[in-house]
Amino acid sequence: MKKILVTGGAGFLGSHLCERLLNEGNDVLCVDNFYTGSKANVAHLLPHPHFELMRHDVTFPLYVEVDEIYNLACPASPPHYQNDPVQTTKTSVHGAINMLGLAKRLGAKILQASTSEVYGDPEVHPQKEDYWGRVNPIGIRSCYDEGKRCAETLFFDYWRQHQVEIKVARIFNTYGPRMDPNDGRVVSNFIVQALNGNPITIYGEGSQTRSFCYVSDLIDGLIRLMASPKDFTGPVNIGNPGEFTMLALAEKVIKLTGSKSQLTFKTLPQDDPKQRQPDIELANRVLGWKPSVDLDDGLIKTIQYFKEINS
Ligand code: NAD
Ligand code: UDP
Ligand code: UDP
Repeated sequence: MKKILVTGGAGFLGSHLCERLLNEGNDVLCVDNFYTGSKANVAHLLPHPHFELMRHDVTFPLYVEVDEIYNLACPASPPHYQNDPVQTTKTSVHGAINMLGLAKRLGAKILQASTSEVYGDPEVHPQKEDYWGRVNPIGIRSCYDEGKRCAETLFFDYWRQHQVEIKVARIFNTYGPRMDPNDGRVVSNFIVQALNGNPITIYGEGSQTRSFCYVSDLIDGLIRLMASPKDFTGPVNIGNPGEFTMLALAEKVIKLTGSKSQLTFKTLPQDDPKQRQPDIELANRVLGWKPSVDLDDGLIKTIQYFKEINS
């Protein structure tokens, strides 16, 4: 039985990952400081004999014994990561150093949850892994974007300098059950607004695009990446290439919820990327991975979840 550490394991993606790893017969140590995650996300896993939950901030050293590490700890929604931007950079950078130091001492494999944000506001479309990105180093998104870019640098230097076995996933916008209804991401905002009959908040004109991946597909991609051959480090894009404008997303959510909500237009936040779509040829070729849940089906499941927690 493998012992697996998941940092940020009480968050949206982390809780699904812990659940899946337990179901596959592993021993899972979930480490989280509950900054954006919650005990409620993993409450159903607590009785499991091979699940352990530890409150810890990854910016501090961590001494445990494991075989594999998934490093997901980091607030992911713009309002949350901008709330305490210095802590966001510390979490990405100091967190990466500590988890890489841990992996180095143990000879453990380590996977980094990186992000499509490393491409910034891209001039290359769709984004391939060899594109270096267009990121503002001093804007309000920089704490997250540059923190994640520096974490990737650290991963590749620990690999080159210390031969740590690394895997870097560039995750594109992912949605599904257990998103925090208050964390401000577009899918959760639109669904909660539609279910409550409140105006749907479109930032800017709503012509910016994103490509949305359902959570089960994403988790499948991360697990395949961890199991990939030793010489495959990534970075590899994991996301669903189906690309939609925010207006189209709002229309879908209104239709699928049967809501009478109207659209309301708000200011576009600074440095908001205009377009985003993953090229997933690499993931498909090396990991044999591609997403299987389309946006309508994923939204229906996500809407059902938000209805349940609302009632
Ligand atoms: P989330 O906010 O739900 O989860 C992040 C978790 O990390 C939370 O449980 C939070 O409490 C924990 N955390 C934050 N700072 C910590 C610290 N210093 N020490 C310990 N725990 C800490 O977000 P998510 O959507 O589940 O994202 C998980 C990871 O995937 C993040 O690293 C994020 O950057 C990355 N990612 C997510 C998406 C997406 O669309 N969901 C896209 C790209 C990348
Ligand atoms: N570290 C940790 N757990 C370990 C080993 C290391 O948290 O089991 C942390 C430790 O605090 C250190 C960091 O990881 O600062 C980087 O470790 P590394 O061995 O690369 O560097 P050094 O110890 O020389 O700073
Ligand atoms: N957005 C929006 N209304 C909202 C929340 C977000 O129009 O209530 C837009 C936001 O400006 C961005 C897109 O939706 O263009 C995706 O935002 P999210 O915060 O989910 O992710 P990210 O910008 O990090 O991709």
